[in-house]
Amino acid sequence: MSIVAGFDVGSLTTKAIILKNKKILGAAMIRSGPRPVASAAKVLEKLLDETGIHQADIIKAVGTGYGREKITFIDKAVSEISCHGKGAQWLIPSARTIIDIGGQDCKVIRLDKQGNLIKFITNDKCASGTGRFLDVMAKVMNIDVSELGKLSVKSTEPITFASMCTVWAQADVIKHINSRKSVEDICAGINTAMANRVAMLTNAIKIENDICMTGGVAKNAGVVKALGKLLGCRIKQIKKVDPQLIGAIGAALFAQEMVLKKSSSS
Ligand code: ADP
Repeated sequence: MSIVAGFDVGSLTTKAIILKNKKILGAAMIRSGPRPVASAAKVLEKLLDETGIHQADIIKAVGTGYGREKITFIDKAVSEISCHGKGAQWLIPSARTIIDIGGQDCKVIRLDKQGNLIKFITNDKCASGTGRFLDVMAKVMNIDVSELGKLSVKSTEPITFASMCTVWAQADVIKHINSRKSVEDICAGINTAMANRVAMLTNAIKIENDICMTGGVAKNAGVVKALGKLLGCRIKQIKKVDPQLIGAIGAALFAQEMVLKKSSSS
């Protein structure tokens, strides 16, 4: 019985996955707290509770995410770039460009057919182009961030922003709410602004098909659609599992590889 686990301690959410013989046995997700060590312990407890598996049954565990170095119960820490690439290509083998948009950064990752990293680019300097931008805008609109995508696809006349700065864009949203612009059009404007920023980053490295998205923002249908339009391609959606879990899945796959390497060398 080969049970392995992957943990992704992100800026906003902490995710965990258990794999048994390359099949997903269970997953858990919680909101990250200020201390990565505590978030990791909490998600582990939830994962064990929900799967009924004992910690001692996990033979290898790998951690990723910004808080990976603080996880006490893992065998190895692996970068988010490697884990998102690994997880995405496991689910979509034809994926060559992976766009991961999380709570505080956005990464574009290029892989070859064998999964080797060709190059990557990151935006972690500015909130626009990250999930944080969407969270702030949803709050201003008094809606849940999960509604932004559903509402925006019904828009007929998306608003445009005078500035991409998150602070100025908030003022723009308030102005549009007060001028009675439809919620759908404001949501579409927000998602398109976000997609514009991500497209700029994506175009800075030569993208190759197939393209897929990982991270929480991949669940926003409005951003996915707008980004596909700006890049002139169809973005393949990961449907079998929650795309927010891909980093943790990649980490669990690295744990699986550690087990295989150990058994082939002994
Ligand atoms: P991190 O790994 O940095 O913690 P995540 O990959 O968990 O980030 O992504 C968090 C972001 O995902 C949030 O900022 C939010 O914008 C977006 N998000 C989370 N859940 C949903 C949802 N159900 N629908 C649309 N967007 C979502």
